Amino acid sequence: MIRRSAELEDGATLRADLCVVGAGPAGISIACEMLGSGLSVILLEVGQRSFAKAAQAGLSGEVAAGSAHSPPDMYRRRVLGGASSIWGGRCVPLDPIDLEPRDHVPHSGWPINWLELERYYRRAQPYFEAGDFEYSVASSLGAAAPETIEGFQHPDILTDRLERFSPPTDFGRRFGQALIESPDIVVLLETEALRLVAADAAPCTRVTTLEAASAGKRLNVRAERYVLAAGGLETPRLLMLSDPSRRGGLGNEGQALGRYYMCHLENTLGRLQLLPKERPIALHFERLADAVYTRRKLALSAAAQRRERLLNTAFRLHYPPISDPSHRSGILSSVYLLKDSVLPEYRRKLATIEIAKRDTLRRDARFWLAHGGNVLRDLPAVSWFCVDWTRRRVVARRKLPFVVVDSRIGVYPFDVNAEQVPNQDSRVVLAERTDRHGRRMVKVDWRMASQDTDSLVRTMRLLQRGFAASGVARLDFDDGLEDAVAASTPVGGHHIGTARMSESPRDGVVDANGAVHGVANLFCAGSAVFPTCGHANPTLTLVALAVRLADHLKAGHGKNAIRVPGEQAEAAA
Ligand SMILES: Cc1cc2nc3c(=O)[nH]c(=O)nc-3n(C[C@H](O)[C@H](O)[C@H](O)COP(=O)(O)OP(=O)(O)OC[C@H]3O[C@@H](n4cnc5c(N)ncnc54)[C@H](O)[C@@H]3O)c2cc1C
Repeated sequence: MIRRSAELEDGATLRADLCVVGAGPAGISIACEMLGSGLSVILLEVGQRSFAKAAQAGLSGEVAAGSAHSPPDMYRRRVLGGASSIWGGRCVPLDPIDLEPRDHVPHSGWPINWLELERYYRRAQPYFEAGDFEYSVASSLGAAAPETIEGFQHPDILTDRLERFSPPTDFGRRFGQALIESPDIVVLLETEALRLVAADAAPCTRVTTLEAASAGKRLNVRAERYVLAAGGLETPRLLMLSDPSRRGGLGNEGQALGRYYMCHLENTLGRLQLLPKERPIALHFERLADAVYTRRKLALSAAAQRRERLLNTAFRLHYPPISDPSHRSGILSSVYLLKDSVLPEYRRKLATIEIAKRDTLRRDARFWLAHGGNVLRDLPAVSWFCVDWTRRRVVARRKLPFVVVDSRIGVYPFDVNAEQVPNQDSRVVLAERTDRHGRRMVKVDWRMASQDTDSLVRTMRLLQRGFAASGVARLDFDDGLEDAVAASTPVGGHHIGTARMSESPRDGVVDANGAVHGVANLFCAGSAVFPTCGHANPTLTLVALAVRLADHLKAGHGKNAIRVPGEQAEAAA
C-alpha cells in the first residue's frame, strides 16, 4: 500500500519488521523478495512516483578541488526506481578473479566467493528482463556464431564475452505497482530518511528509530531491522550523519566509511585498424530469440592480469569522435547536431570523451558546413536511420541500446572501462554546506591512483602487441598515451566501495551479509558495499547482493529481533 504524508500526523511513528531506505534497484529488489514472506516492510523513498525536477534539489553537494568527478546531482535520480529511471541497461557480471585476493591489488578479496555470488546472479537476472545468466558468445549465440574479430585469437585477450542489455528496466515502473498493491509493504514516497537513532550511548550497537521528514512533517520509523539502499553516495552520508560517537559514522571503526571510492575509468584510447579494412567483425548489437540485445566486448584474461599485475579491463569497438566531421558519416554528424536533445547525463559522457581526446576543433562556419555536408551526402542513410531509430529507440519497449556505425575505412576507436584499485584517499565526506533539513551535504573527492593509470597504459600496450602479433589488426595510439590515460574520467553513476564489505571491522564497514559491523540490526545494500569493482557495470551485481541480503533477513527474522520494551512489531499502520 502507499501512504501519503497528508494522511500522517506530524511526529507519527510507523512500525514494521523491516525498513528499507531508498527505492532504487537495490531497495526495490529487497522489497520484492519480501513479498509473501509475512514480514511487514516500509519502503521509504524521497522521490515521487514520477520524476519531478524539484525533488533533485537535495542532491547537489560539492566536488573537491582537483577531482574530475561530475556534480553529485548529475547521475542520481530521486524518484521511485532511483537511477534505473535513466540508466543504460548494460548488464555485466563480475569475473571470478574480481572476488579473489590478488597480491597486486591492495585491499582486494571479497568475504564471499564466486560460486556464492553466481547463485544470486541467477536469481537477480530476471529482474533485468535480460534473458538467461549467460555471458559468453557460445552460450548465448551458439557455437556457430561468427568470431568477434575474424581470425583474431590471443591468449591474453578474451573475445568470447558479451554484454546483455536490459530493456532498460525502470525498477519503479516495473515493480512499483506490485509493491504498492501488497498489504505487507508500505511505500512511503516523498519521505526523506534524515538519520538513524541509536538505542544506546556510543558505540551504537543497534538502531531503534529512523527519523524522516515528509512534506514538512517529522516521522519516526521503528523497525526490527533497517536497510540503507540509498545509493553509493547517500548511504555513507546517512551513516556519517547518524553517528552519536562522533567517530566519523556508524560502522567506521576501521576508518573505511566513505573511503575506497571507485567509479571505473572511462576513456576512448587508440584506434583499431582492421587488416584488411573489410575484415569481418561482430560490431553491431545481436538480438537473441527472446529479443534481448547483446553486444560483444573484449577483455583481459585472468592469467594476463595475474602475470602482468594488471587491473581488470574491458574494451568495446567504438565510433570515431562525433564532433570531428572528418569521419564523413551523415549519421554521426546528425547525432552530433542533435546532441543537445540527449539527456544531460549522456551528453556529458559524449563531451568528456571528446575532451579526453583533446578536442581542439574550431567550431567555425567550415566546421558546421562540414557536418551539414555529411548529412546531405548521406541523406538516404540518415533518413533510414531516423525511421529505424524512432522505431527501435522510441516506439519499441525493448530499446536498441545505442547507435553503432560501421567505419568505411575499417578504423574503430577503443572504448575502455577499467577497474580502479580501492584507494583510501578517494572518498566521500560531509561538506560544510547543508540541505534544507540542516544536514551536511556530500562532498566527493574521487581520485585516480597512479596504479590505475599505470595499469591502463600497460594494458593498452599489451593489446597493441597482441594485435601486432596477430596480423589481423593494428592498434595505433597518438603520441602521449600516458597523457590520454591520465585524462580518463570516472564513469557517471557508478558509486562503488564507500561502505565496503570485509571480514573484520578493521578494514570495512559491513560484513559478508551487508550488516554494519557492530550494529546488529543495520544493513547496507548497493554498490557501496563492493570491496573491489572489476570492470563490470555495477547494477546486476548489486541486485544479486540485495537478493542475497533479503534471504539473510528472512532467514534471520526473529532470531536477532530488536524489540522496544512494551512494543510489538506490527504491520505499519
Ligand atoms: C545515466 C546512467 C546510466 C547508467 N547505466 C548503467 C548501465 O548501463 N549498467 C549498470 O549496471 N549501471 C548503470 N548505471 C548505474 C545504475 O543506475 C546504478 O548502479 C543503480 O541505479 C544503483 O541502484 P541503487 O538502488 O543502489 O541506487 P539508486 O538507483 O541511486 O537508488 C537510490 C534511491 O534511494 C533514494 N534515496 C536516497 N537517499 C534517500 C533518503 N535519505 N531517504 C529516502 N530515499 C532516499 C533515492 O531517491 C533513490 O531513489 C547508470 C546510471 C546512470 C545515472
